[in-house]
Amino acid sequence: MNCDNNSDLNRSFEERYNTLQAVFDTSDISFVMDRDDIILEANQAFATMLSKTVQECINTNAFDLLSSGLAASRKEKTDEAFRTGKIITLEDESEGRFMLSTITPIASRKNKITALHISVQDITELRLAEKESQNQQMFSYALIDAIPGGFYMLDAEGCYVQWNTYERDVVVGKTDSEMPNTFAMDTIHTDDRPMVEKKMMNILNNGAEESEVSRVLLHGGPAFRWHQLSGKRIIINNQPFLIGTAIDITDRKQADIDALQQSEERFRKLFEEHSAVQLIIDQETVKIIDANDAAAKFYGWSVEELRRMSMRDINTLSDEQAQQEIEKHNLSGHGPLSFKHRRADGSVRDVEVLRKLIKINGKDLAYAIINDVTERKLAEIEQKKMTDALIAAKEKAEEHDRLKSAFLANISHEIRTPMNGILGFSELLKEPHLSGEEQAEYIDMMQQSGQRMLNLINDLIDISRIEAGETMVQVTETSVNKLLHDICSFFKPQADAKGLRLSCTAGLSDSESIIVSDQAKLHQILTNLVQNALKFTRTGGIAIGYTRNGTMLTFSIGDTGIGIPLDMQKRIFDRFLQVDNTLTRAHEGSGLGLSISKAYVEMLGGTIRVESEEGKGSTFIFTIPYNPLNATPSASALPPDEQTTINPLSGTTILIAEDDEVSGFLLKKTMKGENITILHAFNGLEAVGLVTTHPEIDLVLMDIRMPVMNGYEAARQIKQIRPKLPVIAQTAFTSKEDRAKAQEAGCDRFITKPINKNELLGLVTELLHR
Ligand code: ADP
Repeated sequence: MNCDNNSDLNRSFEERYNTLQAVFDTSDISFVMDRDDIILEANQAFATMLSKTVQECINTNAFDLLSSGLAASRKEKTDEAFRTGKIITLEDESEGRFMLSTITPIASRKNKITALHISVQDITELRLAEKESQNQQMFSYALIDAIPGGFYMLDAEGCYVQWNTYERDVVVGKTDSEMPNTFAMDTIHTDDRPMVEKKMMNILNNGAEESEVSRVLLHGGPAFRWHQLSGKRIIINNQPFLIGTAIDITDRKQADIDALQQSEERFRKLFEEHSAVQLIIDQETVKIIDANDAAAKFYGWSVEELRRMSMRDINTLSDEQAQQEIEKHNLSGHGPLSFKHRRADGSVRDVEVLRKLIKINGKDLAYAIINDVTERKLAEIEQKKMTDALIAAKEKAEEHDRLKSAFLANISHEIRTPMNGILGFSELLKEPHLSGEEQAEYIDMMQQSGQRMLNLINDLIDISRIEAGETMVQVTETSVNKLLHDICSFFKPQADAKGLRLSCTAGLSDSESIIVSDQAKLHQILTNLVQNALKFTRTGGIAIGYTRNGTMLTFSIGDTGIGIPLDMQKRIFDRFLQVDNTLTRAHEGSGLGLSISKAYVEMLGGTIRVESEEGKGSTFIFTIPYNPLNATPSASALPPDEQTTINPLSGTTILIAEDDEVSGFLLKKTMKGENITILHAFNGLEAVGLVTTHPEIDLVLMDIRMPVMNGYEAARQIKQIRPKLPVIAQTAFTSKEDRAKAQEAGCDRFITKPINKNELLGLVTELLHR
């Protein structure tokens, strides 16, 4: 070793010393002490800590500088370091400061521990920070444990990462070590899992915050409690976690359920016991979900049966039609729907349905209140009928009013014309030097005019009787063939005079043609129709006939006349209606004939109608019931040609009771030439006397209004003397009472004045041959 080397070495020692001194001075609190605890070296930090200089510290007993408590614990450690030669760390606190001391033994060359290097670190800040963090953690734990329910943190798989005591002990029921392997979804009631799982995914994948009420199984179930679950996502180290809470809301839920049950009970009672018919219907399948007692009572099916039925079993409309109705109603938006509902007994009722759509458990239901309006509908129909009838009656009355006015104008004309004829020709008859031919012509004209007036009066009387309800049906044995023949014979001369053909066709044999009917009315119907046919036909002809159709006889009177416009064909049967009612019209008439005929046809049990074409002609068709008389053919139904040759009245004696000389004279003249013996009584008493004294009397023609004894009394007494002697009452007007009285007195028939010869002879013949 040379000097230079030594000086290098020395310099090196010095440098190294200085460097170490610098490190020693700038490092943490450090000092070196020997086995006697005497400080050998101390750095500035150490001296500063003790508020001394470095020199003041050196050679001082290290433990004298410390408090007695600290000194004892540190002495223990330094002794240990001397003894073991190991580095010892020691942490202690003094005056709020935390010190970490590292005791490093320093060995001599002989490996003997001669001193200790003690460095002290002030770790107060660290310790305080640690404590703070610890406090915070404990606070957090206390907080999440204080939550009145579960707290959990789940990983992306749904396994527990964090939990609180509640979650672990009350919900899961496992130990802390088992928790990390537990799926939180296992704690959810299976019914609620799909919904909860969906929300959980939404939280983890999309960061949504979700909340849900679910049944949470306790210790794996089956016991559960209702919990309000809430969760949100947190990201830690790029990994998503779900943190959430579970709050037990069972009590609240139970209260809700109880309230719901009570409410449901209330509404059920209301529904079941309400008197209105109510149904709940599945909107989609139209099945009846529920029905109340009123519905069961109304429809006639039990509530259970109704619950198994569908509206298809009740509504008479098809699904499609019902839907259309509902849609139509939805558009109008108010009021009830109108349907027809079937019931168990097969009856169908008109109902009004008030309908409200409700959603229950995601299902569209229709709540329907059904109101039976059948009676109201019927009443409405009845009311409508009545209103219509009243309107029709009013219109008819107005029409009649109009027609009556027209009729009055017409009637005045109809009376004046024949009156003019009668008065005019009777005036002419007074002229002297008239030839026999002229006289006959004038008289004929007067007769025609008289007949026309008589027809008019007869029509007026007939219609007023019909209107007064006084016309009665008098059924007698009636030979339809004979009637037809009589009509044809009667009208033949008129038809010939107009150059018209007249044909009559019988539809049955004479014996079959004898029926029970009102002969007089049938006669008048045919007369009216044939008269019209003659009146409204100028060329061609008239065909009269009848056929039998089962239980009815159908008569037809066809002509080739002027015809009737279509719009008039129904109305001509109305009273006073004439197609042409102008004053200049070409045809006479009152406008009553057809309405009388119609009334008579209907009284006999038939109908009447017309088929007509303007300019071509008309056919009147009417029916009456075919009531055949189960008897041998009547003697009166003789072939037409025989009738003219045999006079059935020949050799009979007739008593005429008549106070009016003219009328008596007229009657006698009417019978003249029939080879009849006539006896004449001028009052009732005389008539009774003559019947007593003349047993040859075959028939009595009794006037009613007579002096001394009236016709009723005379008839009564005659019937007492000779009950079978036929009595015909003759009156000017036969009112209902007159007829009843006459009938009561025993009269067999009535004849109205002025007396028609044919009618009289017909009646007499009928009575003498019955
Ligand atoms: P009248 O003949 O007295 O006028 P009716 O009641 O008998 O009254 O007839 C009413 C109307 O019906 C007649 O005025 C006439 O216009 C029409 N009518 C009736 N019968 C015929 C017929 N055969 N041909 C054409 N029109 C007729």
